[in-house]
Amino acid sequence: MLHKEILASAGLSPADLYSGTPSSQAITVHSPIDGVELACLKPTTQADIPGIIKLAHNAFEQWRTVPAPRRGELVRLLGEELRAAKHELGALVTLEAGKIRSEGLGEVQEMIDICDFAVGLSRQLYGLTIASERPGHRMMESWHPMGTCAVISAFNFPVAVWAWNAALALVCGNPVIWKPSEKTPLTAMATTKIVERALARFGDAPNGLLQLVIGGADIGDALVSSKRVAIVSATGSTRMGSIVGPKVAARFGRSILELGGNNAMIVAPSADLDMAVRAIVFSAVGTAGQRCTTLRRLFVHESIHDVLVEKITKAYASLPIGNPLDAGTLIGPLIDKTALQHMQNALEQARQQGGEIVGGEPVSTNVPAGAYVKPALVLMPQQSDVVKHETFAPILYVMTYSDLDTAIHLQNDVPQGLSSCIFTLNLREAEQFLSAAGSDCGIANVNIGPSGAEIGGAFGGEKETGGGRESGSDAWRGYMRRQTNTINYSSQLPLAQGVKFDF
Ligand code: NAD
Repeated sequence: MLHKEILASAGLSPADLYSGTPSSQAITVHSPIDGVELACLKPTTQADIPGIIKLAHNAFEQWRTVPAPRRGELVRLLGEELRAAKHELGALVTLEAGKIRSEGLGEVQEMIDICDFAVGLSRQLYGLTIASERPGHRMMESWHPMGTCAVISAFNFPVAVWAWNAALALVCGNPVIWKPSEKTPLTAMATTKIVERALARFGDAPNGLLQLVIGGADIGDALVSSKRVAIVSATGSTRMGSIVGPKVAARFGRSILELGGNNAMIVAPSADLDMAVRAIVFSAVGTAGQRCTTLRRLFVHESIHDVLVEKITKAYASLPIGNPLDAGTLIGPLIDKTALQHMQNALEQARQQGGEIVGGEPVSTNVPAGAYVKPALVLMPQQSDVVKHETFAPILYVMTYSDLDTAIHLQNDVPQGLSSCIFTLNLREAEQFLSAAGSDCGIANVNIGPSGAEIGGAFGGEKETGGGRESGSDAWRGYMRRQTNTINYSSQLPLAQGVKFDF
């Protein structure tokens, strides 16, 4: 009953939810909370994709000529509509992705924040003026819209990632085609209803400016493979990125890849341990360990290892696990039983590689279809293979270190490079960690956990995390093309570098 109310208040009618008939092609959506079927959707077909891309391209030809501040007005209206629908969309995030209530709301807040950011940005798409070596010449850079932007998103941030991309893409003059995770299409459909309200208020946006396609990897692939899709912004596993990246590169398209992380914290002897524990617990178990920035590796100075582990173990024992719709729950379910199996497999490997495991068992609740689990703390003798792999579940590997150089080396000695942090009150240690010889990640923090980024900074990571940047700072440049302009206002035609070519 409650499920139906959440779906209805997010604007999803029975006709929206049952557009498909049960078949091998239909996308059936289940709530991770209790396994209840929420919808059976007719997916977009491969045959539909060329028409969708063409419509987006037609929209591009109009939208690119609309002044950027006017484009920003659409994003401002979208932000207003999101504010009005925050509660309803946040509840649907909880129902469909299993996040606790405040994280569901937080995800929508992130959408609102990026809209605010992008509205300001719509008046700040600045280029440079450059000193020319030639008399009577002026040089400058102009930034122009790129073209259609496909956004392929993951289940764990079912709506925020689209907003990071769409808000910037729109003010930059690009249409957006969104393919959400096949595990979370309903939040995308509800967001599309919100978008429709903003478009109606805006009045004259071109048809096809913001489109949604529903489907799995094959539909994502159809967007990835099309030469008419200028930008592919893909968020998900490194496995997915390793397929998408080369395909986009082979056709000389632009990709923004936001892939797996394997994030670490170093806890130094001078750290404020109570603050560190709070950061560790939120970063390691929040969203049931299903954030790309989740804390997965902890390097603790040997002098404080035992006391810190005791504090974390105590905190873990007090965490309420259960239905994320209930007030007071801090750990909701994993997305599905497959994720639970992956977690159990990783724990078994960790045990074989010398790990001592505390927690990690499935939790039996009164909702047997949900994949609820106790977060696991794994004391590892060293950073073995299983630790270097991202398991998308609440497993925190704990290792000791004796000198900071080694800790930083170990932190960097994994294939991924998303987020990292150090807890220390020692200025030298903090600065070393942030220096060129410090963390090799896209995000490096001091006295803050690795997860829970604000939208104002550029978000993304290095190495197998893909190298893309989204959200704040100058990430907008990823959605535009740079043009260098030289203007000659003299009556001569001097050549650069003093070259003579008289005839
Ligand atoms: P996933 O890779 O299984 O799927 C992500 C999206 O890619 C889905 O929409 C899926 O349909 C699509 N996809 C899969 N294969 C494809 C292909 N060959 N061509 C085109 N599209 C394809 O990931 P998931 O399980 O939904 O999400 C969890 C993963 O996402 C984790 O690894 C997590 O770290 C990562 N993630 C990264 C970030 C980041 O910003 N770095 C943010 C969120 C999630």
